[in-house]
Amino acid sequence: MIIVMASREPEDIRRVVAKIEELGYQAHLIEGVERTVIGAVGDEGTKERLQSLESMPGVEKVVPILRPFKLAGRELKPHDTVVTAGAARIGGGAFCVFAGPCSVESRDQIVESARVVKAAGAQVLRGGAYKPRTSPYSFQGLEEEGLALLREASADTDLPFVTEALTPEQVPIVARYADIIQIGARNMQNFGLLKAVGREKRPVFLKRGMMSTINELLMSAEYVMSEGNPNVILCERGMRTFETETRNTLDLSAVPVLKKLTHLPVVVDPSHGTGHWDLVLPMAKAAVAAGADGLMVEVHPRPEEAFSDGAQSLKPIRFRQLMDEIGPFLKIVGKTL
Ligand code: PEP
Ligand code: MN
Repeated sequence: MIIVMASREPEDIRRVVAKIEELGYQAHLIEGVERTVIGAVGDEGTKERLQSLESMPGVEKVVPILRPFKLAGRELKPHDTVVTAGAARIGGGAFCVFAGPCSVESRDQIVESARVVKAAGAQVLRGGAYKPRTSPYSFQGLEEEGLALLREASADTDLPFVTEALTPEQVPIVARYADIIQIGARNMQNFGLLKAVGREKRPVFLKRGMMSTINELLMSAEYVMSEGNPNVILCERGMRTFETETRNTLDLSAVPVLKKLTHLPVVVDPSHGTGHWDLVLPMAKAAVAAGADGLMVEVHPRPEEAFSDGAQSLKPIRFRQLMDEIGPFLKIVGKTL
């Protein structure tokens, strides 16, 4: 339920919050420009009891939230959420590029990658230290050493970084090093993991599962937010279809749908979305045109030597070209890098 306040008196707000909690619901205070609203989130079956709040001092009206994603939806919070990490701003008209290699492989590789992406204008460094691989015999990542190398590369370039946690047990260590915690496509519905990152302070970069609907993505964001972490960045990274010319089918229609349904920032990953480096630039432009708040792009100093995802990784020169060529598209949609 949304409790729309007529008053901004702290005492009125405090009383309403206390009553919501007494009835067994979580209270989420949202102070908008025009008015303050309080979201009461909890058991849907008994929500009628909240209607009685309408008679409390300072309350204008009580209205139901129709969608199942209560905190992630625009019904409760119409205005865009802006997530920050270091100097990077994601959402609300700021466009953010997350770039770097698929995996951290060595100090030289990650430091060189960080310098290249920084020089081209990326705002966040990416790189995997714990890798979700289809085969147990493939490179699994440098683990904590990889996190430490990411921190070095990040300090060297003054770029915040995002990296993936694969299990709830890895969350504390990833949160200690990283500026943003990534939840990969294969883990989008790992509810224990979502709850674990929900209890952290770090923003969460949540990738859409390759077989998940938009509603399921938003319900996964809801898991994180309902644990107390409001800083969620959504990422469309392609889904499984019958098509075999591309690694995945990049669902760009998800971008305007998500922008309509949620206030959370929406990023597109055309690298995993296509699987081929030469398709990354056209789909990056299309993502900007569709209204994305950012891009995640795999960049490697020497893609032919990459331990993972070399075929979809851009060489530095191609990444610079991408950053140049999205410029006019950003201008058209009124966003700034
Ligand atoms: C990645 O970003 O390196 C990754 C593994 O992505 P996804 O979870 O989208 O496959
Ligand atoms: Mn990858």
